[in-house]
Amino acid sequence: MIPYGRQNIIEEDINDVCETLRSDFLTQGPKVVEFEQAISEYCQVKHATAVNSATSALHLACLALGVESGDLVWTSPISFVASANCALHCNASVDFVDVDADSGLMSVKALEEKLAIAFANDRLPKVIIPVHFSGQSCDMHAISSLAKKYKIFVIEDACHALGAVYLENKVGNCQYSDICVFSFHPVKMITTGEGGVALTNNNIYYEKMTKLRSHGISKSVHFPPWTYEQHHLGYNYRMSDIAATLGLSQLKRLESFVTKRRYIATQYKEKLNNFRFKPILQCKQGESSFHLYPVLVTDSDTRRALYDYLHLNGIAAQVHYIPIYQQPYYKKMGHLPLPNSEKFYQRTISLPIFFDLTFNELDLVIKVLNDFEGA
Ligand SMILES: *Cc1c(COP(=O)(O)O)cnc(C)c1O
Repeated sequence: MIPYGRQNIIEEDINDVCETLRSDFLTQGPKVVEFEQAISEYCQVKHATAVNSATSALHLACLALGVESGDLVWTSPISFVASANCALHCNASVDFVDVDADSGLMSVKALEEKLAIAFANDRLPKVIIPVHFSGQSCDMHAISSLAKKYKIFVIEDACHALGAVYLENKVGNCQYSDICVFSFHPVKMITTGEGGVALTNNNIYYEKMTKLRSHGISKSVHFPPWTYEQHHLGYNYRMSDIAATLGLSQLKRLESFVTKRRYIATQYKEKLNNFRFKPILQCKQGESSFHLYPVLVTDSDTRRALYDYLHLNGIAAQVHYIPIYQQPYYKKMGHLPLPNSEKFYQRTISLPIFFDLTFNELDLVIKVLNDFEGA
């Protein structure tokens, strides 16, 4: 089976990790600090807090911005459940902003309209979490202007978009957000096994996130020397030095990972029948990292038939994503379907795109697709 995505691990990764295994530090130590510095430098951002998953990073980000009971957080339904769960973990409520039906990205128009209504009803969200679906940045300039207008915080869920560019800069520089989060799960752009990071230019958010990552404990300046003090209720969300070592080794290849993914995307665009397999809209403001390569087909019956056909032909295409509000847990809360999110979900399917996909495999996928006879 050709998967839709998978990690690339080479001998250097393995050797570096083995070296760390022979060192004094297995849990959070010098490699985590080194990894945080490397990521901040790559993204041109002031601070990085490395953690054990992006789910944890999103939770810490919400906590750092003071999300609590009674607050409202808005995100995109075309995402992984973690984008919304982080608000619930803070006892806040979640609501969803519809996407653009051609790109799957949070629609600025839908956001603008929803904000105007929320303002009139005195029920504005505290935080908006736009999701850089498939590796393409949302229109952060527009989203951050709206957020400023209504005094709302912005967390970028950039789990797909490490290596992507937005308005000439790397996604992650937090020019248009308070905090930006990446994931290092194996299907993402680089991996640490499990892992994530929260980036920010704000000293206070950074300090809060680092403290809450490790039980809310800080080293005491008081005597006796063994003292440590817990001032807040934190978590154990630490990244291990083993994971950070893998991340450091992977980060060296990030540019080649992105280049290969962009090449695959171009091949799909050039060689697939674009009427039957419509590539999602790529905005002019940036360059996607192509974590995913979703195409849109005419209707849900065609998508179903195509999914089965591809799997029969050894191609494990996947669907990203079932709108979060359709999850039984969210349905219970009474969320209603959003028209463009429904439309997008019905028609989308993600094709294989990853560094180790060979040219032969790519040609095979293209041929199999173009031979598809329909529903
Ligand atoms: C993968 C992913 C997450 C969660 O990342 P983990 O590191 O697995 O916790 C959150 N949001 C999006 C959009 C993702 O793709």
